[in-house]
Amino acid sequence: MSAFFFYTLFYILISGCIIYPPTEFVSAGLTIKDIFSNWLGSENEFFTQYHIRRSVVTLFVHSMLPFGYTFGLILFGHLDVTKVLLGHANLWLIFITSTVLIPLYTSCKILIWSMNNWNKHPIAQNIAVYCNRTNNNSNRVSWTTVASDINIEYRRIDKIIINTNSVTCIIATDNWIIKVLPYKVMVAHQSDAILIVNKSDTHEMSPMTRGEVQFINIEVKSTRIGAQPFDIRLNALNFTNLQEKVSRPITILQNITFHKTLLDKFIDSFKEQVQENPYYEYAEEVSQCIGCMQALSNVKLHKLCSNDIGNGNPADCMECYCRPMWCIDCMAKWFASRQDETAPETWLSSKCTCPGCRAQFCILDVCLLQPI
Ligand SMILES: [Zn+2]
Ligand SMILES: [Zn+2]
Ligand SMILES: [Zn+2]
Repeated sequence: MSAFFFYTLFYILISGCIIYPPTEFVSAGLTIKDIFSNWLGSENEFFTQYHIRRSVVTLFVHSMLPFGYTFGLILFGHLDVTKVLLGHANLWLIFITSTVLIPLYTSCKILIWSMNNWNKHPIAQNIAVYCNRTNNNSNRVSWTTVASDINIEYRRIDKIIINTNSVTCIIATDNWIIKVLPYKVMVAHQSDAILIVNKSDTHEMSPMTRGEVQFINIEVKSTRIGAQPFDIRLNALNFTNLQEKVSRPITILQNITFHKTLLDKFIDSFKEQVQENPYYEYAEEVSQCIGCMQALSNVKLHKLCSNDIGNGNPADCMECYCRPMWCIDCMAKWFASRQDETAPETWLSSKCTCPGCRAQFCILDVCLLQPI
């Protein structure tokens, strides 16, 4: 019984790694696309054909998993086939029959898809939506023409590829937005695509990396008749990358907030922290911020932290006597610009020097002005 249990557990684990490969499997080349790479051909040369083959292989391998389980059961003697076959309609018989039927059904499906140069395959069908039609049928452009246009664009080096996890990725070429899924490839032509950021969610990262990571959901709709809408879910820090490559404006719904860059994120946490500091009472008239020349200056550096005892150590915070010259956004940007770029999680706890007098200060010494 326990051997049966461990075999089942092990098989589920392996199946999970095949369906959704962890990074160790990916780097070791133990993914379906690596194992069948010879048959799949070159993704760079024939993007569409490659993904049709890849999706077919993936589907077939996945459909074989239940059968593999049964096969193992019989091989390791956990299941006596003759007993099952002679018994009357028990659950095992139903299970074994379906593990055989699933790959058979899948194979039939694949066979039907493959006819007429994969004409019926879901990827071909998705692409066929973008064929230009004329009423003269002989002139009708087939999906392969559109596919080779996509292939050509994919070959260009300025495309953007964002891997959202080990089995899906988002690709933006000059004219296309493409989402690659295990069994499918969704495409949208940029000219008639509508992109809407409709959701954002924040997740705490592991204690090792600290901080949090934000994801956004972009709905991609096409005004083309027959085109299926799809969702793109990606790290918010990839948003600018995508936006630069997409010719259409990306609408952000009003109630959605997210940080497009690390700096954006830092400015927000900087402001949050400064809000908690005491205000600095200031009676004189404030001038324009010398950083952006737009906002009014609204921060003053004033040593409040008590960690340093003031014995002249150059690393200690010091009093700054400059008048308020900066707005909080510019102060946050200045602060960030003086930090170690490779370790953003240390920024808030680090120090910086006053842009005017070079006095050292930390975030606890930044005060918002309070007019009196
Ligand atoms: Zn400013
Ligand atoms: Zn100063
Ligand atoms: Zn300080």
